[in-house]
Amino acid sequence: MPELPEAESISRALDKALKGRRITKVEVFFPRLRTPLLPLLKAGLEGRKFVSCRRRARYAVAELDDGRQVVMHFGMSGVVRVEGAEVPRRKHEHVFLHLDNGKILRFEDPRRFGSFEVQRKGKDGWPESLAGIGVEPLDRRFDGNFLYEASRGRKKPVKELIMDNAVVTGIGNIYAAETLFAAGVSPLRQACALSPAECLSIVREVKRILRLAIKWGGTTVSDFKNVDGSEGRFVQKLKIYGKKTCPRCGGKVATAVLGGRTSWYCPACQK
Ligand SMILES: [Zn+2]
Repeated sequence: MPELPEAESISRALDKALKGRRITKVEVFFPRLRTPLLPLLKAGLEGRKFVSCRRRARYAVAELDDGRQVVMHFGMSGVVRVEGAEVPRRKHEHVFLHLDNGKILRFEDPRRFGSFEVQRKGKDGWPESLAGIGVEPLDRRFDGNFLYEASRGRKKPVKELIMDNAVVTGIGNIYAAETLFAAGVSPLRQACALSPAECLSIVREVKRILRLAIKWGGTTVSDFKNVDGSEGRFVQKLKIYGKKTCPRCGGKVATAVLGGRTSWYCPACQK
């Protein structure tokens, strides 16, 4: 599942590929993903020009010259490509936006948990459907104090807190596991038991790891590929996610299921 660094890589690549390009034709090959696709045909997209593409949470948001936004979520298996019209349509490519340079923005999603919609921009400059989601982890407002305050009175495990999109948005399973390992905090710890120093350490590690993952093009664990078809290389940097042995102490890595997701941690190094 594409996480924040993958969505960032995709958005940066789309910004380059789409900026200044005009949409000449819209094709839809399947009625709906997580949300309906057919409204795209009546949205009046032909003739509109892309002005930018940015990331918010795990969404890629491509802005049009009329202020509306094409909002993409990749679900479990979504892939977006910008390729020439000579490449035949793949079986699970459900949307084509033809561009004025002969290329096509293609959205593929075999498992159909993703979404591809046109939305109006809200007051904060982001799509209306994303109003009310939490702070971005790389935003300056997400600091040790913020996490400490957010964790007070919360009895749920710390891993579930940092994966709660209403608190801080876009930290998925892989990066939560890596962050807590780097910070030496057990994913099972009750959030309300965190000290201010531990909150600061978690915040620092989240930012460091996400920046590193963005630099390395994200993590290819299953179906994710960048817009140009290249795979994320951050997978080589993973320390605890999916591992059997702790790289720090050599002990056995433990797993637990938290919030329905498997968590890897070292019982010796993470307290
Ligand atoms: Zn260890």
